[in-house]
Amino acid sequence: MAFESLSEKLQNVFKNLRNKGRLTEADVKAALKEVKMALLEADVNFKVVKQFIKSVQERAIGQDVLNSLTPGQMVIKIVNEEMVSLMGSETTEIPLKPSNEITIILMAGLQGAGKTTTCAKIAGKMKQKGRSPLLVACDVYRPAAIRQLQVNGEKQGVPVFAMGENQNPVNIAKAAVEHAVKNNMNVVILDTAGRLHVDEEMMAELQNIKAALDIDETILVVDAMTGQDAVNVAKSFDETVGLDGVILTKLDGDTRGGAALSIRAVIGKPILYVGMGEKLSDLEQFYPDRMASRILG
Ligand code: GDP
Repeated sequence: MAFESLSEKLQNVFKNLRNKGRLTEADVKAALKEVKMALLEADVNFKVVKQFIKSVQERAIGQDVLNSLTPGQMVIKIVNEEMVSLMGSETTEIPLKPSNEITIILMAGLQGAGKTTTCAKIAGKMKQKGRSPLLVACDVYRPAAIRQLQVNGEKQGVPVFAMGENQNPVNIAKAAVEHAVKNNMNVVILDTAGRLHVDEEMMAELQNIKAALDIDETILVVDAMTGQDAVNVAKSFDETVGLDGVILTKLDGDTRGGAALSIRAVIGKPILYVGMGEKLSDLEQFYPDRMASRILG
């Protein structure tokens, strides 16, 4: 289960609040100080934490809360609501064009983030929605990546378009869309090359693909376990390439939760899905309210 350590700390703070009965302004401030520490230890972005605590405090210190019959409960409720709003409030789906048109999804991310696996997971979701997806191997630098996409595509029963390594990714992407048109496919998922770190060449390649094709959705795949690094990576991809949404992988191994709690607030783009394991079925829609309940218990 993700976020154990954050969850445990917050639940302790809440237990004390609930047990107190009457609350003073100082009690609320002390509790929020502990919430703040817990969030910082969970590697939530500092500015995000500051704003979050401010919002909660503004709502929690009013007389109607403090004089209510269950002030502790009310403070907890406010923390919950503000946490949901931090993560975007609503569930965001990948917007799809009508079935007789092709939706092109560009998947970007650093090497090892889980991009190739996630492409296959998304293809599976598209199939479940009754769509006809095509996976496209645009990562021409790693032969293993092409092979991996083919293996995963086969597992999902989704065709994979590949032209080998000696081709320009833009040409591959264009040829793939033509292939999709001819074969009545309606979702094209481009698996692009990642690098170990954010670098100009990778960004330029993504920009070229975006300039040459009518990309409908640009999605970044980031590893939740890297915490604030994930947030910084998302920020630079958004500034350079432009993102429509983010998929957070490896949430199953993330005990802290910093990326999940910060990314939306920092880049203003929604988390679409979360990866919960290595299996191709381990991809879940992201529900901010369920995530907040998981964390707050
Ligand atoms: P890429 O380099 O970004 O294409 O990354 P890969 O798709 O090759 O994935 C890198 C590793 O992360 C593989 O071992 C995947 O099985 C693993 N992985 C991907 N997503 C998840 C996830 O949500 N949870 C876990 N635990 N592992 C994942």
